[in-house]
Amino acid sequence: MSQISMLIAGEYRAAANGATFERRNPLDHSVATRAPAATVADARAAVDAAAKAFPAWSAIGPGERRALLMKAARALEAKGEAFAQAMASETGASNIWAGFNVHLAADMLLEAAALTTQINGQVIPSNVSGNLAMAIRQPAGVVLGIAPWNAPVILGVRAIATPLACGNTVILKGSELCPATHGLIIEALQEAGLPPGVVNFVTNAPADAGAVVEAIVAHPALRRVNFTGSTKVGKLIAQTCAKYLKPAVLELGGKAPFVVLDDADIDAAVAAATFGAFANSGQICMSTERIIVDEVIADAFVAKLAERAKALPLGDPRKGPVVLGSVVDMATVERCNALIDDALAKGARLVCGGKATDTLMPATLLDHVTSAMLIYQEETFGPVKAIVRVKGVDEAVACANDNEFGLAAAVFGQDAARAWVVAGRIESGICHVNGPTVHDEAQMPFGGVKASGYGRFGGQAGIDAFTELRWMTMQTTPRHYPF
Ligand code: NAD
Repeated sequence: MSQISMLIAGEYRAAANGATFERRNPLDHSVATRAPAATVADARAAVDAAAKAFPAWSAIGPGERRALLMKAARALEAKGEAFAQAMASETGASNIWAGFNVHLAADMLLEAAALTTQINGQVIPSNVSGNLAMAIRQPAGVVLGIAPWNAPVILGVRAIATPLACGNTVILKGSELCPATHGLIIEALQEAGLPPGVVNFVTNAPADAGAVVEAIVAHPALRRVNFTGSTKVGKLIAQTCAKYLKPAVLELGGKAPFVVLDDADIDAAVAAATFGAFANSGQICMSTERIIVDEVIADAFVAKLAERAKALPLGDPRKGPVVLGSVVDMATVERCNALIDDALAKGARLVCGGKATDTLMPATLLDHVTSAMLIYQEETFGPVKAIVRVKGVDEAVACANDNEFGLAAAVFGQDAARAWVVAGRIESGICHVNGPTVHDEAQMPFGGVKASGYGRFGGQAGIDAFTELRWMTMQTTPRHYPF
């Protein structure tokens, strides 16, 4: 069991009133972590600390910020084993997933380090004679990052790395489901030597999330919010941000379509679908959720995919290497079981897997899914996947777009130009031709459309999100006025 602390103004702290909450292991219900349950006063203290640290942090040169972020990347990588243990005990994640998380998160810190010298402005020709006009990017101020449990290292780091690189000070609000995993990110940043108050860490009991988040957003020094999580909570965050006029980047849910055209390389498509559908037991925002396959090749594709899915090793990740670990909670099991029942009652065919009785859920495929079934629309966020058979390109595109979400997508076809045109017609922030829906790199513009949210992380897009663009001028010659 780990006992963790918050970090406010460079000090590891308990909640002001000493309150704590527990995170239990999803499989054996043993206490995985005990963490402080922040009060509203703690939340405000974190913003105060970040506001106090902002003038000095925003004024230091990019070289110094870059060096600290690079050190943080190395400190994070050195904690690989600790991250794997924390993730297995808090969320049931496999070792492979933990390793990928640490690798990509370290890369995000390195990319953020590189961005420190890429915060460019513009000189704009002015109509006023002798007027030197510029667009200048400045740090925004205090930034709140809210990250979920499912890719905890990647998304915890993503919430704060680019904001820090841009000269902002930050507060990471950890997930109630993985406070110790998020706490390890903070330890790595501390070890790198970031000055007190530049990074703050707040954890809260589940019931207090709304009050703690509102206290932070309402604070006058808070200038930007980023949230990664469900669409349901994302809408609440958007409302809170609107109330206090605070801009937000919202990275929300997904229902990624994986389109297999009639000329697809079936083996390549099967490999990508297996990975995209079942990595981290389907608990990724980019997870392949709807496999949309042309009826011409559907039988061959489904048979090969089922063979691969049935062979995926499943078990307690604390006991040895697996592909499918435990899902995060029984709510996931119940949600997926209900979606299976509904689909089967309405005529879907179970190809492999099936309902689970505990959090060790098998890879499950449902074929002949139609728009009448709940699984056609709703995010499973588990290893239960829908296959929809379609006839031709137009039906495939219509099916891909027949959904409220629009985060990731993929199209498979050997006529690459045709597949590219199909990809262009899909309503999503991200689309890969002949690649899996699950693909993330630190320097890419990452984000969704429709109910998957708005704003982008990654590379230049991240700089735009976490800086203030100012118009500044200097009059260099005598100016003419009308009166
Ligand atoms: P969640 O929305 O339940 O929780 C995320 C965070 O919201 C937590 O930190 C929680 O404390 C906070 N929260 C809960 N209630 C709140 C309230 N009333 N006010 C303010 N904050 C509140 O999400 P989750 O279950 O942790 O994550 C899974 C979801 O995240 C899935 O829908 C998934 O698709 C999505 N996701 C999206 C991305 C992306 O980049 N688009 C990445 C990963 C996960």
